[in-house]
Amino acid sequence: MNNVLSIPAASTFHLIKKYHIHAFPHPRTYDYSYLVTFRKKGGIMEELYKVERTVILNMEDELIYDKIQHFDNSIQNRIKHYIIERKRDFVFEKPDFIFWILKKEESLLHKPQTTKPYNNHVYFNYKELQSGKKHVNIATKEKYNNKVDYLSEFKLNLEEINKDEITVTEKEQIIKSRIGQSTFKKALLSIEKKCKLCGVSDERFLIASHIKPWSQSNNQEWLDVNNGLLLCPNHDSLFDKGYISFDDNGRILISDILNESTKVFLNVNETMNISMNESQQQYMKWHGENQFKP
Ligand SMILES: [Zn+2]
Repeated sequence: MNNVLSIPAASTFHLIKKYHIHAFPHPRTYDYSYLVTFRKKGGIMEELYKVERTVILNMEDELIYDKIQHFDNSIQNRIKHYIIERKRDFVFEKPDFIFWILKKEESLLHKPQTTKPYNNHVYFNYKELQSGKKHVNIATKEKYNNKVDYLSEFKLNLEEINKDEITVTEKEQIIKSRIGQSTFKKALLSIEKKCKLCGVSDERFLIASHIKPWSQSNNQEWLDVNNGLLLCPNHDSLFDKGYISFDDNGRILISDILNESTKVFLNVNETMNISMNESQQQYMKWHGENQFKP
């Protein structure tokens, strides 16, 4: 328990304290730490929290409160009041926000502060924060790159879903609707920029497919970007339904079920191939054996 994430929260500091809710635009590159603290103006910190649950909400969604019905009433009320007060006094700068549902762990009675004001999030050593010093030294300012941050955010959401006692099918539906593809897709987009098979590069139309589907994967496989394939809607549909797959060398396998005109119109032909690393090959082997319809 060395690192405490410290976030500047000047204008929302009072809301965090009142409702134990922190909301920030999605996505943002926090390395999720065990404990979190918030700084008010002047860099003063008063409390340490744990992130208990998370949820991504779209502020323009008319059915926004339906998306939090899986929380108990007290959490639902905290989120509702946070949103009402923040809209009244401050602003939601973007439609998509991540909400952290916090639990207060400890008070920092001596109210430590940074040596000078920082606009960015920083990390503290727990012992340094609790040392009783008025001015505390920052341990690190930047820890991980964006790629890893997207994944830790994704992981945090999965942890939340795994707390609910639900079936795999329900879990898959929740993952698709609540988290959407956003985080996994962002992670994939940091590696690939267009459909693996054609030139579609408009991010709005790219789909982050799991090679081995959600329902068949364990947590580690869900999170593994090597289990992802960035495809356009045509190629995603063919791949997802098992009408195409790839052999060990990355050469395309096309199902005999597809006739020549379908192949032409859906833009697949026998000369296509993709590059894969060893780990992707393993997932693809699974796809070829279990999903592909020869
Ligand atoms: Zn394509």
